[in-house]
Amino acid sequence: MKLNFMSCRRASELAAKQCITALSRGERIWLGMHLLACAACRKIGLQISAIEQTLRLLQEPDATHEATGGPQLSDESRRRIQSVLADRT
Ligand SMILES: [Zn+2]
Repeated sequence: MKLNFMSCRRASELAAKQCITALSRGERIWLGMHLLACAACRKIGLQISAIEQTLRLLQEPDATHEATGGPQLSDESRRRIQSVLADRT
């Protein structure tokens, strides 16, 4: 497959489209072939996938840090913050 700016641009457009709706069979095949040949678009595809996963996680109702095992405040930190806020009111 011959790579040029226009084919990379089309690959980016299809990768973005793929986040919103299903690609046609021809589009999927074209994109797959392009990604096999183009390292730059593979990187962009990975970045789009990471952004898509993050957005999906943020849309989930229980996407808190506690639910995902991410960073949490210690009880001591929560108490200090609550006491500072209580002093201000
Ligand atoms: Zn490309």
